[in-house]
Amino acid sequence: MSSRRTFIKQMGALAALSSLPMASHALGWAKKPEQLSLKNLPIGVEGSWDVIVVGGGPSGCTAAISAAREGARTLLIEATGQLGGMGTAGMVPAWCPFSDGEKIIYRGLAEKIFNASKHGVPHEPKEKLDWVNINPEYLMRIYEQMVNQAGAEILYFSRLAAVIKNADDRVDAIVVANKRGLTAFKAKVFVDATGDGDLCAWAGAESMKTDVLQDSTLCFSLANVDTYHFLHGPNLHSDNKQSPLYQAIASGKFPLVTGHMCLNLVGPGVVQFNAGHIHADSTDPWSVSRAMTVGRDTAEEYLLALKEIAPAAFANAFVVKTASLLGVRDSRRIVGDYIFTGDDWRARRQFEDEIGRNCYFIDVHKPGHVPTHYGKGDSHGIPYRCLTPKGLRNVLTSGRCISTDEEAFGSLRVMPPCLVTGEAAGMAAAHAIRQTQGDVHQIDVKRLRQRLKEEGQYFL
Ligand SMILES: Cc1cc2nc3c(=O)[nH]c(=O)nc-3n(C[C@H](O)[C@H](O)[C@H](O)COP(=O)(O)OP(=O)(O)OC[C@H]3O[C@@H](n4cnc5c(N)ncnc54)[C@H](O)[C@@H]3O)c2cc1C
Repeated sequence: MSSRRTFIKQMGALAALSSLPMASHALGWAKKPEQLSLKNLPIGVEGSWDVIVVGGGPSGCTAAISAAREGARTLLIEATGQLGGMGTAGMVPAWCPFSDGEKIIYRGLAEKIFNASKHGVPHEPKEKLDWVNINPEYLMRIYEQMVNQAGAEILYFSRLAAVIKNADDRVDAIVVANKRGLTAFKAKVFVDATGDGDLCAWAGAESMKTDVLQDSTLCFSLANVDTYHFLHGPNLHSDNKQSPLYQAIASGKFPLVTGHMCLNLVGPGVVQFNAGHIHADSTDPWSVSRAMTVGRDTAEEYLLALKEIAPAAFANAFVVKTASLLGVRDSRRIVGDYIFTGDDWRARRQFEDEIGRNCYFIDVHKPGHVPTHYGKGDSHGIPYRCLTPKGLRNVLTSGRCISTDEEAFGSLRVMPPCLVTGEAAGMAAAHAIRQTQGDVHQIDVKRLRQRLKEEGQYFL
């Protein structure tokens, strides 16, 4: 057993205070800051787990559920006070398509969560598979119930702050910041479901991040919308080039209103918006802070523009909520044993180790991007090796930080495939404990695929 002093010394990265040479880069500092030492600050160890999942977004939830169902003692650590990530705290208003145009392809836990979430939007047709609206309050309870029922524990308002390694390739514990100050948690295997790949990056894994990130959006809801006129009035979606939205933009009166507006009725009189583009880097807290303010100003401007262009629906509307998480599309992607590429996507590649399928189009929120779509019935495999970070023995990734190139990321970043990679990561974590002393690179992938199939997942 190492002493407390050694334990502190061995911390791989402690936000703002690490002495590792790579830390200043990994933590996103523009230049190396003055360094302080935490030597005199004791950090208690609060328990030891089989699997710790960090981040309670779509992929973190399915990871925690599947790890726990597979028999692992599982802890899910989440920075906010709710589960669902971008789909709830981020207020993304709709599920990307669950079907390839012919059949549902995101199955297993993904399909179960999707079906359960539909009860929160009873105005949506039961048989609808594509672009189903989300009631965020309802969805976050579904996630919570399913994680609890699976037997995983949830720790809210707790943010990963550092990673502790005794060997280069193994994470022994993580340090979390919450109302107890700093606390360490040990586990045999960790799943990084932070979206930004915080755990892996701070553990020294190689990551990819483009110079020009896709824009972010602060989603929001308007209430007291006239539902009848909303449903029967002009099509305001920005895909409709005749939308009066473009007149509002041309008027010059609403500088924060852009040609990006998706709007979904999530309940009587409540329309939720994924609208407006903001430049932000989610690994820089100052950038996110500024973006939140711009996002709230943007919501107000959209309201004013809508009152003008569609008064029958929006004259009496008001902003009832802006998201508590910035809608971050793009940040670190952690380099895994395989990097899934745009060419793989176009080739509709199949893999021996695939753990799910994906068919979402390449959807990149950057000016000038032309989306690429599949035809009906087309999809590609998602290899397990995209979830296993190079150089880290007992860590998996899930969700939007898995190993893809920039182009393929535009497709794999959305919620249905994130749910699928989460389920596979959680199950693989449990298998690694049983089979390989936590080495996620060496597990029996045939067995993993067999178990995923038994749980209803779809792949070739
Ligand atoms: C504006 C916008 C619109 C989108 N539209 C759609 C859409 O219409 N349909 C669709 O299906 N997808 C959409 N997406 C994509 C999708 O919502 C996300 O990519 C997806 O939610 C990613 O899932 P995830 O599990 O990787 O992580 P996230 O959803 O990003 O969740 C990460 C979770 O981890 C927590 N966390 C982060 N860091 C830490 C830390 N250090 N410690 C503890 N907890 C941490 C966060 O609080 C959060 O709860 C959209 C995304 C954005 C941003």
